[in-house]
Parts: sequence; C-alpha cells; structure tokens
Amino acid sequence: MSEINNINRRKFLEIFAGCGCGLLITSCANAPITERKQLKLIPESSLNRQAAQIYENVKRKAKLSKDKRQLDEIKEIGFKIENSVSSYFDSINENDPTSNFQWEYILIENDKIKNAWCMPGGKIAVYTGILEITKNKHGLAAVMGHEIAHAVAKHSVERASRALVLNVGTQLVDIFSGGAISNAQRSTGVDVAGMLRTFGIDNPFGRKQETEADYLGLIFSSLAAYDIRESVGIWERMKKANKGKEPPEWMSTHPSSARRIESLKKWIPEIIMKYPPIVKIG
Ligand SMILES: [Zn+2]
Repeated sequence: MSEINNINRRKFLEIFAGCGCGLLITSCANAPITERKQLKLIPESSLNRQAAQIYENVKRKAKLSKDKRQLDEIKEIGFKIENSVSSYFDSINENDPTSNFQWEYILIENDKIKNAWCMPGGKIAVYTGILEITKNKHGLAAVMGHEIAHAVAKHSVERASRALVLNVGTQLVDIFSGGAISNAQRSTGVDVAGMLRTFGIDNPFGRKQETEADYLGLIFSSLAAYDIRESVGIWERMKKANKGKEPPEWMSTHPSSARRIESLKKWIPEIIMKYPPIVKIG
C-alpha cells in the first residue's frame, strides 16, 4: 500500500509542478449566485478529466439498470436542468459555469443505496434505491438539482484545494492521479465504491457546501419548471425510511435533516417568485 502511495505522490508532484504558475492567478473565486468566496487552487479541467475516467470505470463495473423508461425520465429531468442553468447564466450575462461540462446520466441497479451523485464536469449517477424516496419526477428533480448544484458550484475543486492547503494527503494525491488510480485498482483490486470514496464523491461535503447545494438545487429545479415544494416531502420520507435503522447513505452524507427541512421551507416561496421556469415545459 505504501508503495502505491509513493507512486501517487510522485505523480502528484509532477502534475502539481506543471500547474504551479496558475496558482496565484486563479486562487480566488466566488460561487455562482450565492457569491460565497471559494478557494480554487486546482485546475478544474484536470478534476473533470479524472472524474470522466472514474465515471467510465463505474459504467463498466456497476450493474446498470435495464429500466429504459426510468433512465429516460432521469435524462429528461437532467436535460431540463442543464438547459435551465445555461439559460439562466445567459440571461444575467454571466459565464455559464457548465459550458465545459459533458453531461451524462446512468441509473445503477441497487435498491439498498438511497443515493445519487454528480461528479465534476456533469457525470451523474442515480441509484434505484433512491427512487422509493423521490417517488415522482419533482422529487427526483429535487435530488438531481442538489447533486448538480455541487458540480455547478465546483465544490470538488474547492474541497481538493482545501485539502491541498491543509495537507498533501493520499486522498488528494488520488484525485490528481487518475492513471495511478486505475493502475492501483488493477493491482490491488480496489472496488469502484472505494474509488468513489477516495475521490470524495460520497463523502460529506462541508456544511456550507451542503446548504449552498440545497439552495442552488432549489433554484435550478425551479428554473427547470419542477415543483420544488416536493423537496420537503423527500426529507420527510427520508426521515421515515430511517426510523430505527442506520441512515441510508444519501442521508448520512448530508447533515441534520430537521434543520434542512426548515431552511427549505423558508427558501421555497422566495425562490418560486424569484426564479420562475426559464425553459419551455414540454
Ligand atoms: Zn450534497
């Protein structure tokens, strides 16, 4: 294991040395819409590239659902949110943060995992387990809106940058070494779930990022003409599904559901007014 880490570290240092001159120039940024200050030391393009590689691995290794109708619904919701995000930033004359995204959607057959994620660059996966919680397209749009918001607000770039400042740890090294990850996977048999964890996809985001993803997720779903009031229903169903059991994965990566429901209820009326549907319903 330590040998693999050494290899990763060396690769990381090579890559890092290669992008050193960009550091000072691009280290400060604001999150879209919320304007929250973000630390961005790491080039987004390299994260997107690694994410795309890992996504290809997921597609090969995971059991993909054969339910075409359900996947089509996921894609339809995704297209609407994609278009809404782009149209919105166009409408306010700001750069579209998703202009470099290559959106893709998969449905993974696993009823035990109540989860969904969106990797940097717009690579999305929904697990069949979360569909019993989302219930309908509005619920699914709420979950997808939240996950897409993490990607639109470049939370992975921020997380990786923070890790870089705190410590050049193995996890960060892995983020940078897409090639090394797949090499390590071949030699050590590390599973896809482990890789995702390494990549930070299903790890908890910071509370600020979660709140921001909730808020932006509502905005994106509203712009895409979904009924964002359904988001409250999801959290109530999550709570119910959890009764007396370990929290399902999607929930465990996201803090304090009671407070979250409170915030959603507070934001919903304002967001419905301020961010009406921007794309045609069709
Ligand atoms: Zn989240």
